Amino acid sequence: MEILACPKCQDNHIVKSGIIKDRQRYLCKKCNYFFTVNKIGKKIDNYYVTKALQLYLEGLSFREIERIIGVSHVTVSNWIKEFNIKKPAQADYHPTYKIFNHLELIEYLKNKDQLSGAGMIITELGDKFMLIKWERFKD
Ligand SMILES: [Zn+2]
Repeated sequence: MEILACPKCQDNHIVKSGIIKDRQRYLCKKCNYFFTVNKIGKKIDNYYVTKALQLYLEGLSFREIERIIGVSHVTVSNWIKEFNIKKPAQADYHPTYKIFNHLELIEYLKNKDQLSGAGMIITELGDKFMLIKWERFKD
């Protein structure tokens, strides 16, 4: 993962400055702030880990999760193992999901028929929204 800017002053004039506890340390030449790669990367990573675990519990496959959040299915599979996530036995429905921008989402939800007899979750995904829907009371 490439470091583009200092986390403190956002300047991109940074240089490598030794390794601390197996992590590359950097120095910002502008404000003299020291930081490591993981300090920046961690927040983003946890965001995607959480999203991946949510989607997994919603019944999506590793490959579907890969397509949605752009993290390889192998990584997703490793996260499931790492957090020891066990999915309850799947009922006879499979959730569908749609990606909307804000206006599309509003248009979709305007139609009351979309809401009846179904459960759904809306989750932020970058600058878009993902709507996961499952028809709970389907025969
Ligand atoms: Zn700086």
